[in-house]
Amino acid sequence: MSREPLVIAVDLGGTRIRAALSNLEGHFLRRLEWSTEAERGRDAALERIVALIQEVRGDVPHGELLGVGVGTPGPLDPRAGLVLSAPNMPGWNDLPLRTILEQQIGLPVRLVNDANGAVLGEWLFGAGRGRQNLIYVTISTGIGGGVITDGHLLLGHCGLAGEVGHMTLQADGPRCNCGNYGCWEALASGTAIAREGAAAARDGRSPLLAELCQGQPEQVDARMVGQAARQGDPVAGQIVKQAARYCGVGLVNLLHLYSPEIILVGGGVSKMGDLLFQPMCRIARKQAMPAYRGVPIEPASLGEDMGLLGAVALFRLEE
Ligand SMILES: [Zn+2]
Repeated sequence: MSREPLVIAVDLGGTRIRAALSNLEGHFLRRLEWSTEAERGRDAALERIVALIQEVRGDVPHGELLGVGVGTPGPLDPRAGLVLSAPNMPGWNDLPLRTILEQQIGLPVRLVNDANGAVLGEWLFGAGRGRQNLIYVTISTGIGGGVITDGHLLLGHCGLAGEVGHMTLQADGPRCNCGNYGCWEALASGTAIAREGAAAARDGRSPLLAELCQGQPEQVDARMVGQAARQGDPVAGQIVKQAARYCGVGLVNLLHLYSPEIILVGGGVSKMGDLLFQPMCRIARKQAMPAYRGVPIEPASLGEDMGLLGAVALFRLEE
């Protein structure tokens, strides 16, 4: 009697590794979560990943497993199986992760970066089900995204397509982590909101923020700015409004570039709720060309399992 095929999904982050034994419908039979211990170096982290995969696999025979799907942060080349870099994971540069894992585990391994994994997860298991054209945007410490177009994940040369957070929205804007100026991420990410909030706390424009951070402006984060804005602080309100405006403009560009059926927005900063979401959607609807204005812009649906489901989704795609 042959049982249904299973996969092992791994969601790799700088602080935690999650893994699940799953069927192709995204139902988890077993799941585990360990700390990454990335600070102990690359080889130690790799050993933990392999050990966690073995643990979650248990006694399931090789023949019942299609393989291991791994979602990793940062840019990677999925065809070459190469992690180009991974934020908060020292030593993870040009790492042939697929080959390393395949040799140690003896199963086929597929890789996806976390933003592309998220859009795959939403497409096959979440709010994007049944669509052929869909964009996922995460607004968090950084801004990233993934694009499904005409029923395929958009990869581009070396798998680097869809870096939506690094589209330039203001040519002479603030410097971005990528080295460029005025990227969407440099203008509206959680990091950018915190930077503006810290400046307002430091120079006395926002007494409320100065109070919330207990006089330590470097402690200001996006959540604090959101809280101050909700309590009526005009400067904090202006910072959030400005970030929402750039997010709206970013979405207009995505509507025009990819003509999606739906845009899903996730990430910690998007959870600021209506404070950010409403002005962002209003600007996107107002500034897009008329034919694009009816496209729904909705919160992402999958929550913390998004990364694992994206890794499962890799085995639902044509190779
Ligand atoms: Zn950038």
